[in-house]
Amino acid sequence: MSFLESIIQDLGALECQGLRRHMRDIDGPQAELLLINGRLVINFSSNNYLGLASHPLLHSEAHRHLTLEGLGSGASRLIAGNLRSHRQLEEDLARFFRTESALLFNSGYHANIGVLSSIATNDDQIFSDALNHASIVDGCRLSRARVHVFPHGDLAALKRALSSSLPARRRIIVTDSIFSMDGDTAALPDLRTLAQAHDAVLMVDEAHATGVTGPGGRGLAAALGIPVDIHVGTLSKGVGAFGAFVAGSRPLIEYLLNRARSFVFTTALPPSVAAAARAALSLLDSPQGEVLRARLHQRISQFRSGLATLGLLAPGAGETAIFPIVVGDSRRTMEACEALLARGIFAQGIRPPTVPHGTARLRFSLMATHAEQHLERALAVLEDLVAKEIIPRSQP
Ligand SMILES: *Cc1c(COP(=O)(O)O)cnc(C)c1O
Repeated sequence: MSFLESIIQDLGALECQGLRRHMRDIDGPQAELLLINGRLVINFSSNNYLGLASHPLLHSEAHRHLTLEGLGSGASRLIAGNLRSHRQLEEDLARFFRTESALLFNSGYHANIGVLSSIATNDDQIFSDALNHASIVDGCRLSRARVHVFPHGDLAALKRALSSSLPARRRIIVTDSIFSMDGDTAALPDLRTLAQAHDAVLMVDEAHATGVTGPGGRGLAAALGIPVDIHVGTLSKGVGAFGAFVAGSRPLIEYLLNRARSFVFTTALPPSVAAAARAALSLLDSPQGEVLRARLHQRISQFRSGLATLGLLAPGAGETAIFPIVVGDSRRTMEACEALLARGIFAQGIRPPTVPHGTARLRFSLMATHAEQHLERALAVLEDLVAKEIIPRSQP
């Protein structure tokens, strides 16, 4: 069989399992309405939680720095790509998150693989929640550390793994703060206690909490007052820009800039993007940021009670902007997704390997820029699809 024939065969296998993916054409990340194939729909699939991707202040700062510092940064940070906007953003991030230091990465994916593969090697152990983001999973694989994956949120299993594992040079407990496909949250106080008791450090990925949760949008750990050793966050979701960062102690950041390969061997972010992210941080910490977060939380309450009434509120969901509606079968999920779309609601179907087998789902994420009527419309359509048995009535 030729190379291309074998590729086509693999694609066919994906098709048969209902797992073949296609990209949808959209006209922008705006909260309310978005065009897909010329159709006007309400967008429930963006991580642009506060609508900041369309904010005029972010746009004007990006424009200004495009002129000042150029479009591409031309080199990696350690060669000749360390521009003023990068340095200023890192200073702002450290101040914002009250850490000694911060380091930019080109995405959350880069940050997680870079951190885990550099801080953990053969002599180390990583303890990772089963539903952690794929970038954490890949970071664990790249690290060559002994990886203990504990069942989602199962603190007793984590404790057993910590107690029974052999001594290690470094032990790292790593978790998402808000789980990206379930919308539930990690038990950070308990994880902190376990880390302390078992000589481990705590690494928390605040991708979906950054800008959205906690005082000033500092994340879930800040909301709970839990100290974190390695704080990863993205600038691409609630912050409305692009890129990611690690915030932590000075030695940690010095170490990462020396050893994290996904930092060292890649061109620095466009400075205009860093400048836009700085503008976003200043907004997040202002009364305007508070207003946006309050608006998002109103929408979360509205959707939570609407879904609960329909019997569609998944266990653990309801506190964050992410609402899964589990269908189970991949093909049925995509049929439900298309049925929603035909009725003007865009909530992308999520299938394995993004979620475990048998748990394919529709995933709704809410934005501060959704109107009350947008959610009312979505709930009415969901009610209709439940009545037609296109969406199962109860959540597992
Ligand atoms: C989205 C996400 C990432 C990846 O961030 P990008 O900046 O999009 O690469 C990492 N971790 C979690 C938990 C995420 O949800």
